[in-house]
Amino acid sequence: MVSEQHIKMWESLDINTELLSKMVSAAVKRHEDVFKTQSNRPSSMDYFDDFWANLQTGRIEELQEVKKAKKPLVGTFCIFVPEESVTALGGACYGLCSGSPASIPEAEKELPRNICPLIKSAHGFKLLKACGYTQSADFIYGETTCEAKKKTWEILSKHHPIHVMQIPQKKDKKSLELWKKEIEEFNEHIEEVSGEELTFNKLKDGIETVNSKRDALKRLDKLRGFYPDIMPISGKDALLAMQISFVDEPKRFTQKLHELCDELEARVEQKVSVFEKDVPRLIILGTPFAAPNWKLHDIVETSGAAIINEESCIGHRYYKDNIDTSSATSKEELVDKMLERYADIDCACFTPNEARIEKIKKMIEERKADGVIYYTLAFCHTYNVESFLVSSALKEAGVPFLAIESDYSPEDAGQIKTRIEAFLESIKNKKVG
Ligand code: SF4
Ligand code: SF4
Repeated sequence: MVSEQHIKMWESLDINTELLSKMVSAAVKRHEDVFKTQSNRPSSMDYFDDFWANLQTGRIEELQEVKKAKKPLVGTFCIFVPEESVTALGGACYGLCSGSPASIPEAEKELPRNICPLIKSAHGFKLLKACGYTQSADFIYGETTCEAKKKTWEILSKHHPIHVMQIPQKKDKKSLELWKKEIEEFNEHIEEVSGEELTFNKLKDGIETVNSKRDALKRLDKLRGFYPDIMPISGKDALLAMQISFVDEPKRFTQKLHELCDELEARVEQKVSVFEKDVPRLIILGTPFAAPNWKLHDIVETSGAAIINEESCIGHRYYKDNIDTSSATSKEELVDKMLERYADIDCACFTPNEARIEKIKKMIEERKADGVIYYTLAFCHTYNVESFLVSSALKEAGVPFLAIESDYSPEDAGQIKTRIEAFLESIKNKKVG
């Protein structure tokens, strides 16, 4: 609920209050249509539903408290930005609004039409002053992972303070040395903003906090995907929880996600599944799903299949590895461990990126998936081009494969549904055959 007090807070952040009020109402309605229409949802999803309803109010209020305590607020678009360092100094590092089609027409006044919707959506939110997260951020940390992003930062920097991390495109020794320097510079910058030293103990604590969040997400992954006959939560609900992991306070989120997992564990024991037995179990591969991009999940799960995992940055790529602090005795060693973990992320921005294919094969095998959908946000060239190598390897391994390229508009939903239904039919025929 948007109160007078929230409106005042938005005004203090130079937010377009009328527009944001309308956007909040639309987002709440869409959430109701997509999520509340499901039956037999775990009751612990209430926390995540409420969080969504208060996304631009309650959580933004909390961020103002962080700001008052002179701790940094850092907005990001990529899982390479070291949230551990910001967390270590009591700040908040969060993903910015970038999953809605509503802000795209505004962005297209400054950006080309034919670039990825994630970037356009985020840029449009800034131009419209319609995202409390962007408006609250002391600065945005961009990175050089793709062409569209790195050129957009030059334009976005005219509207909001931006720092850019140079992420290399290879993982050889020379590139990793550069990357390490970038992490060190990031840490120095966070120290400057907060006026506090990032000591070994603080950094270690920050890393452990984020590791714990990743552990909880790994637990969710196991519960939703590792029991072929019982799927205690829908892919849509799991996606919502993962999307919230990028904006919520990490310790509270971890606790709430464990509460959800406790309920799912009991459901597994009692054999309570939200899907019928024998529905096709799919893994989604590819580009990230920024909230409220629920289109593909909604289509798949209202077409008679279950999504049991996402090989995505809002998904497995984010939580698969922790940073191992056990042997580190200095801050530099912690940074080495951070780098080790980041360099294990197999984003398509790297060349070559062969480890990604092996990881995908393992994910399919472990979860006994019936097929995969390779999802590319429109105009994301790196993931789109890489789909050839992934599809060739998976087809050779006999894994049913469907490629979908889409943006945030609802216009292609009917066409996608038709393709998915045909894909599910072929999986069912294969199972029978
Ligand atoms: S897909 Fe690559 S560029 Fe995009 S968020 Fe993930 S790591 Fe960053
Ligand atoms: S989805 Fe692709 S094009 Fe879009 S921001 Fe990520 S890497 Fe860039």
